[in-house]
Amino acid sequence: MKTELALTPLSGSTLFIITAPSGAGKSSLLKALTKQDPSLGISISHTTRAPRPGEEDGREYHFTTVSDFLEKQKKGEFLEYAEVHGNYYGTSRRAILERLSNGKDTLLEIDWQGAMQIRKLIAETVSIFILPPSIATLEERLNRRGQDSPEIIAGRMEAASEEISHACGFDYVIINDDFDHALSQLAAIVEATRCRLPRQVVTHTRLFEQFGIISDIR
Ligand code: GDP
Ligand code: ADP
Ligand code: 5GP
Repeated sequence: MKTELALTPLSGSTLFIITAPSGAGKSSLLKALTKQDPSLGISISHTTRAPRPGEEDGREYHFTTVSDFLEKQKKGEFLEYAEVHGNYYGTSRRAILERLSNGKDTLLEIDWQGAMQIRKLIAETVSIFILPPSIATLEERLNRRGQDSPEIIAGRMEAASEEISHACGFDYVIINDDFDHALSQLAAIVEATRCRLPRQVVTHTRLFEQFGIISDIR
């Protein structure tokens, strides 16, 4: 675990954790964010949930069986995993550590349980919670998305208040009312993180050396 803690500050990359109740808009926001900044990569989780219409294996998720998931978990292949809405979801350890050690900023779209596990493991994380503007809007969005059955939507609405009750443990909160406004706030958090001193020192070491200020920092 010690190597994982040391990884991110040395490589100058950040792991952004994005959490929200189902239907708050996190997938749509992250898709739009990576479109405008392709250097950001979204981690593709493993899940035992069935693919929704239009979802492709290896694009939204690595879809897998419960026995395969549990075997991978036993072998330590997940950095974190959790049971969410009756299915298992897990983040690939190798994929994440590889990206971070190559200096690539990475977005994790995971539930609050996974968020807590990751924050204990990795030093340089920035966690962002996305709230819908109201509970009624959340339900409207889940219905309008039209990809889940009424029973599944009811279950996700039930789970929403539990998920939301963990929002205060996050670094940032974005209210996804106007989509473009929420997207610009998300992009602003990413840019501000990139300007943090420890990152700038790693990314622009030569410049800091030229100005003779590197020893002030170390
Ligand atoms: P959505 O909430 O409507 O986008 O539905 P999904 O089925 O895509 O995600 C279900 C839940 O699993 C959400 O809370 C996700 O944040 C969470 N989730 C997705 N991938 C992971 C993962 O790798 N690890 C953990 N812990 N949670 C995940
Ligand atoms: P999540 O990944 O959090 O489950 P999605 O990104 O799938 O949520 O969004 C749920 C639905 O709400 C989608 O149909 C999406 O197009 C819509 N949506 C997302 N953000 C907004 C917004 N700001 N205003 C209106 N509709 C939105
Ligand atoms: P959905 O099934 O609607 O795609 O996702 C349901 C929930 O699972 C979302 O809240 C999503 O953030 C969460 N989730 C997706 N992948 C992971 C993961 O790898 N780990 C954890 N902990 N949660 C995940």
